Amino acid sequence: MKAVVIHAAGDLRVDDIKADKEQTLGPSDVRVRIGAGGICGSDLHYFRHGGFGMVRLKEPMILGHEIAGTVLAIGRDVVAVSPGQKVAVNPSLACGQCRFCRLGLHNHCLEMRFYGSAMRFPHVQGGFREVLTCTDEQVVPVPDHVSLTEAAFAEPLAVCLHAVNQAGSLLGKRVLVTGSGPIGVLTAMAARRAGAAEIVVTDVVDAPLAIARAVGADRTINVQAEPQSLDAFTPEKGQFDVMFEAAGSASTLLAGLQIVRPRGRLVLVGQGAEATLPMSLIVTKELELRGSFRFDDEFRTAVGFIADRLIDVRPLLTDVIPVDEAQRAFEQAADKSRSMKIQLAF
Ligand code: ZN
Repeated sequence: MKAVVIHAAGDLRVDDIKADKEQTLGPSDVRVRIGAGGICGSDLHYFRHGGFGMVRLKEPMILGHEIAGTVLAIGRDVVAVSPGQKVAVNPSLACGQCRFCRLGLHNHCLEMRFYGSAMRFPHVQGGFREVLTCTDEQVVPVPDHVSLTEAAFAEPLAVCLHAVNQAGSLLGKRVLVTGSGPIGVLTAMAARRAGAAEIVVTDVVDAPLAIARAVGADRTINVQAEPQSLDAFTPEKGQFDVMFEAAGSASTLLAGLQIVRPRGRLVLVGQGAEATLPMSLIVTKELELRGSFRFDDEFRTAVGFIADRLIDVRPLLTDVIPVDEAQRAFEQAADKSRSMKIQLAF
């Protein structure tokens, strides 16, 4: 079967790999024919740089963790799904036994196996393949009226729902989202659903900001075209109650420290940058900086929101490209001026 394999930075191939159907199915296993796979920022990091931060590619790895498909076969103990059913596949598999799993912090599992991630070695192979065998814990049924392309948004939406949970109550709050990629836009939508009164989204490219407006951002700002525009939010020690940093940019975080009010919270979702922070400002404004990494139960919530269209992800889908043209798909996904979310079709 076909799989999208990253061999090194810039070396992406559609390889013919051994089919899962040649393996025996364990009692809790579910075999899924993958239908749609979204290209994420981390996939692009492997594609362009061979990794990010401390995470480096050390062997060829199948990419992909935003996946949905149709159940082909189930192990003898599986009751949650049946063959023919549409499912969203949760790419995380926590051990359930370690210190953090026992605390209920599954996203911090010491033995986490996350699809298409080079954090462990051997790497955990990803979901950009025609057939995937996972466990019954990882599949969440999707109603028939929901397309697999929509279902494949469950993972990035889960990331954003987790970020909103990290922010605490947003009811009536004034919220800033920096970065208008899929994570920023889905965070804005999740913040609205959580009761935010006003949502401002920033980016340095106009096209994704137009999508943020279309899905409900109250105001969008191109901070490159209008570098002084955030000054309006500095009076009275800052106007925003909460900021979500989804640009992965040090300068964006530094600007945020000036415009989040005392005791406000900055939730950091974007990764990769190194920043030098003004400690006195954080101390005197009693700011809270909080990271947000992946998700836990939010995956199931995300599938529910998508299924009921409480969050309509469809305006975010730019294009669906056949797996054979993976190279073109990745190149297009890397161009933010013309792509919000690109998915592969299998
Ligand atoms: Zn664990």
